[in-house]
Amino acid sequence: MKQFKKVRRYYRLAFITLLAAIVLSISWVAISAVAKLFAPGPATAPPPEAIAVSTATPSASPSPETAIVKAPESDRQPKLGHFPYSESQDLDMVYIGSYAEKENQRFEKLSLEAALALMKLIYAARDDNTWIVPVSGFRSIEQQEKLYKDQIQRRGSETEAAKISAPPGYSEHHTGYAVDLTDGNSHLTDLTYKFAESDAFRWLSQHAREYGFELSFPQNNFQGVSYEPWHWRFVGSPKAEEIFKQARAESHQLDRKSNGKDVL
Ligand SMILES: [Zn+2]
Repeated sequence: MKQFKKVRRYYRLAFITLLAAIVLSISWVAISAVAKLFAPGPATAPPPEAIAVSTATPSASPSPETAIVKAPESDRQPKLGHFPYSESQDLDMVYIGSYAEKENQRFEKLSLEAALALMKLIYAARDDNTWIVPVSGFRSIEQQEKLYKDQIQRRGSETEAAKISAPPGYSEHHTGYAVDLTDGNSHLTDLTYKFAESDAFRWLSQHAREYGFELSFPQNNFQGVSYEPWHWRFVGSPKAEEIFKQARAESHQLDRKSNGKDVL
């Protein structure tokens, strides 16, 4: 009998504990619901800047320059004739081809829509017996930093270097919407002014616009950057237009001032 009473006491205790747990859970749910009603809009996704920062490659000790170029481009002013561009975080970046060979061979990428347009352009040129080859597509800020430092050493000053190469954080190549092109039949003209005399350049001058591409740095461009017949940017979509809005607006303004004469 004593044993039976003891068991009953245990059951009662277990029942009360269970009841208390249920009451507590219900109150918690109710309190959370009320709290949500009065809470200031919960953040469902981090702002784009936060995503950009969190997906950026972490660097062990960022130099002050790197820290500056990571800031949103709208907060930055042009530098030595170059407009600020953010490093693309585009996950749709695709390969557009290969350049050079053996240990120097590299594989170049562009954003999907620029890459598709470039494919159309390359195949249309091929139909006209012209071989257009991409030399350089997307470039990270880190890669540009290396190129720019080499250029400063070669040219002796930052101002002189900037005429040839954009400072890191200011290259159109960061966007994945700009590409250096060459003629597959005359590699000696790669990234030289001689390229302007190649079949590929002649074809591009006549047809690139049909595929949404334009020369970024024509002769005597308003940015004061050296003539780059090989460097083309894609402006054939709303996103592309937005990316190059500032550079294009100022160049068009200048076009109008020169009595509608095309700077190109
Ligand atoms: Zn370029």
